[in-house]
Amino acid sequence: MLISHGHGDHDGGADALRAPFGPSLPIYIGSGDAAGKTCGLKLVNTETTDIQEASIGGTTIYAQPTPEHTSGNLVGFVPVETEGERQLLLLKGHSAVPRNLETALQYLAGTELQ
Ligand SMILES: [Zn+2]
Repeated sequence: MLISHGHGDHDGGADALRAPFGPSLPIYIGSGDAAGKTCGLKLVNTETTDIQEASIGGTTIYAQPTPEHTSGNLVGFVPVETEGERQLLLLKGHSAVPRNLETALQYLAGTELQ
């Protein structure tokens, strides 16, 4: 599982979603949003905007830090095959209306990365 960002409406159910699969199910979150989280999360380094690999059930997915909505905001790319051609499916969790110039610039930078 890849959590887009560390707000409760996105990560609050992580333990419940993991329960049917057991503790070995990896749950990834951006390191910038990990403070205070206690459900055994794996961290994607959000000190950089480099795309990073993550592995879920033997499938490699990709996480890109996009610090827009939160400092640990992530988007995910999941490999899929369509008509015999490999594609990357973009998973995006949330965008917010910027509240001030600082968050507007952060939003634009994250959007450009996506
Ligand atoms: Zn949020």
